[in-house]
Amino acid sequence: MTILITGGAGYIGSHCCVTFLEAGHDVVVVDNFSNSSPESLNRVASITGRKIAFEEADIRDRTALERILKTHQCSGVIHFAGLKAVGESTEIPLEYYANNVTGTLELLAAMNACDVRQLIFSSSATVYGEPQFLPLTEDHPLSATNPYGRTKLMIEDILRDLAASDPRWRFGILRYFNPVGAHKSGLIGEDPRGIPNNLMPFVSQVASGRRDQLSVFGNDYDTRDGTGVRDYIHVVDLVEGHLRAHEALAALTDETNSFTVNLGTGTGYSVLEMVKAFERASNQKIPYEIAPRRAGDVAEVYADTKAAEAKLNWSAERGLEDMCSDTWNWACKNPKGYEASDG
Ligand code: NAD
Ligand code: UDP
Repeated sequence: MTILITGGAGYIGSHCCVTFLEAGHDVVVVDNFSNSSPESLNRVASITGRKIAFEEADIRDRTALERILKTHQCSGVIHFAGLKAVGESTEIPLEYYANNVTGTLELLAAMNACDVRQLIFSSSATVYGEPQFLPLTEDHPLSATNPYGRTKLMIEDILRDLAASDPRWRFGILRYFNPVGAHKSGLIGEDPRGIPNNLMPFVSQVASGRRDQLSVFGNDYDTRDGTGVRDYIHVVDLVEGHLRAHEALAALTDETNSFTVNLGTGTGYSVLEMVKAFERASNQKIPYEIAPRRAGDVAEVYADTKAAEAKLNWSAERGLEDMCSDTWNWACKNPKGYEASDG
């Protein structure tokens, strides 16, 4: 039986393909390349030595999804496809609701029609809003402060309603903290288009000389050095969490047919700690300036990891040094991302 991976050509999806193929699963990727390159799938094939089935399609195309689910005899779905930039989501909210929410509804309808009722969903720690306590446990109150976050919360609600309505469904909702790093080979990694929004790809581009300096968004937070603290997790640890989640889905029952877990390390690092760690890993100086706080940012976010340990028998293994050195290895081997390899 085959697992359908939506958004499988993207940053996390491509790493997930490697982990699942190496674990002996068959996968088929659906992606519309709105934020990725087909080259990532060639690289997945190089790493694993396995040919990868791939269908170029939009998840809003229910007919195409039904055909793909049937043709490949899929038994379950890992759902990464969606738009993910917080700032952009405030500018083009309709695109975000259409891609993320409508896309997920079409996917679920296609699955239902094909009797495929098992799905792992990429949610985000953004659904916790401003932390009321730390570490963040899965029962922390949920709220959203921007359209992107609202799409994640809406989709979670849709999955909870569906799980309650029909015991045949099986859902694993995974709330990611801050995925960073790259596969050890340096063949796949994060390849943001334009100016990176996120800290790690920006720092990496400063280290490689592609950008002059980092703007540190605020140094007056109530944290140990005044800069924002986040729970960075190595992308390979993150996708291994998906493998454990896939196994855990099989153990669910009609009475308890879904779970929600955080995927983080439980440890937070500040922006300046990340800069220092990246300087050590890359042996490059990273110039930075202190800039005003970024709208919507919170001081400190890190996960409670007990539920993941208990329900998935999983915890992150890779530390900050691996996160930085693997990012740097990917950046050095692919100074222009996948661009240079695209036809
Ligand atoms: P990404 O942009 O690299 O990957 C998403 C993939 O989905 C891309 O390949 C894109 O082309 C594809 N896609 C988008 N809309 C599509 C559509 N309508 N039909 C078909 N394909 C479509 O992003 P990523 O970092 O790999 O994130 C994967 C998932 O994890 C997303 O749902 C994201 O919201 C979620 N997530 C990411 C982070 C993070 O920091 N990277 C954190 C929390 C949650
Ligand atoms: N950050 C920063 N400069 C940047 C990008 C991010 O100082 O160019 C800070 C940001 O304010 C936050 C941390 O780095 O404290 C992580 O930001 P990122 O966008 O990577 O993740 P998120 O805010 O979504 O958790």
